[in-house]
Amino acid sequence: MDVISTRNANYKIPATQAVLKGISEDGGLFVPEYFPKLDLHKLKKKAHHGYDAVAAAILGEFFDIGGHTLKKLTELAYAGFDTREVVPMAKLSDTEYVMELSHGPTLAFKDMALQVLPQLISESLKIHEQENDILVLTATSGDTGKAAMEGFRDVPRTSIVVFYPLHGVAPMQKLQMVTQEGGNVGVCAVKGNFDDAQNGVKELFGNGVFNREVEQKGFTLSSANSINIGRLVPQVAYYVYAYLKLLEEGAVSEGGAVNFCVPTGNFGNILAAYYAMRMGVPVHKLICASNRNNVLTDFFDNGHYNARREFYKTMSPSMDILISSNLERLLFELAGRDDAVVAQWMAELSSQGAYTISRAATDKLARHFYADFCDERETAATIKDIFSYYGYVMDPHTAVAQCVYDKYVGETGDNTPTVVMSTANPYKFTQDVLFALSGEKEQDAFAAADKLQDLTNLEIPEQISGLIKKPILHGSVVEKGDQISAVRQFIEGELD
Ligand SMILES: *Cc1c(COP(=O)(O)O)cnc(C)c1O
Repeated sequence: MDVISTRNANYKIPATQAVLKGISEDGGLFVPEYFPKLDLHKLKKKAHHGYDAVAAAILGEFFDIGGHTLKKLTELAYAGFDTREVVPMAKLSDTEYVMELSHGPTLAFKDMALQVLPQLISESLKIHEQENDILVLTATSGDTGKAAMEGFRDVPRTSIVVFYPLHGVAPMQKLQMVTQEGGNVGVCAVKGNFDDAQNGVKELFGNGVFNREVEQKGFTLSSANSINIGRLVPQVAYYVYAYLKLLEEGAVSEGGAVNFCVPTGNFGNILAAYYAMRMGVPVHKLICASNRNNVLTDFFDNGHYNARREFYKTMSPSMDILISSNLERLLFELAGRDDAVVAQWMAELSSQGAYTISRAATDKLARHFYADFCDERETAATIKDIFSYYGYVMDPHTAVAQCVYDKYVGETGDNTPTVVMSTANPYKFTQDVLFALSGEKEQDAFAAADKLQDLTNLEIPEQISGLIKKPILHGSVVEKGDQISAVRQFIEGELD
């Protein structure tokens, strides 16, 4: 399939090529030329062969890569997950399910796509006979960086540099990154917040002189952020799979609708749910859950996107984002695929930090979306309540979604079967989860893990317990706006 740019719908390239590019030269994001329609009957049979069979089928709708290759690719991607089910679903009540997307190597939902993307890039390099190797630049609010490095580590013809906000990630997240092994990975902290790190990376992609400099060294820049279409497509698969599982269980009847409730930051995960809906999964409401950085809640509420507001650091750092890049893909659909309208909104966002859509457009959004947020106190209370009530331990991101789902039900009384997406393992955020459950403030992240295990009987994953012994391999820090120097150092093999 071909994809087009949200800021120039006449610009059309194969999806496999878009995976190599990351973002379009006009600054737009690549979107599918059309939404393929899924045959849910056929997929239901495939689901019996496991998650990777469904994932391969979804990839095959977008990427012109042979079915056999895709099957091998998804098998490899999900082989390292700690459960054969890949994405197990916990049933909390007759109407609520929690789908766990955090069983991959880095314990966050980012693995769902980032175990696939490097392989998609390798295949695409072959298809398009590209001579230059790929240099991936990625900004992370905590989980993407580790998952991307783990996915790209030692993948031939690729290398990766990750930028994270110096004081903006959880201790375990930081440790996971600075201990990363692999001959082709670099990690660098930025003195700023996530938006600073992400803007710095976006500027490098848009810097023509720098791109030519890098080309001469034998590299083409690409992105592993969720702006890459190769991140988005693998995420569609678990929404389809969730629906098929609910069908199988009889929780929903053929054609019956479900809700998905998604803890949202860069709008990638929930956008994948929207894509699944457009491809034929019956959806009643997509519930967009934010933390205190509730720029999306306001946007869905009144059509005014305003990123000029105070930035809060929360216990759900992967959602501490004021510029949700993937929203642009939804805006493109909302605008009836009018690229000029999208380009205008995005120009206003970059010059004034804000834009406003029409009342009619806002009403149109409300047909499919419900949005709300919860603050730190509510998040902690939710972690505690859910544990007391169900004996189920949620990480802070998942708890934000749970809290917003509870508000949604309180407000609407809707009893449509709902899948709350669980995006991280609680042991990535040991101190905050321990504090929420017991009120104890433990200064040491590992001691907190032990206490959390005693308290909940939930086993500490090996990815966390093993971290304490790992040597710190990366220590670079740059000023915001100076990420270019880190990339240059990396290319010369001089980045610490
Ligand atoms: C990235 C992340 C999110 C937010 O996902 P988006 O696709 O950026 O909206 C939520 N929770 C966790 C644990 C994450 O790592």
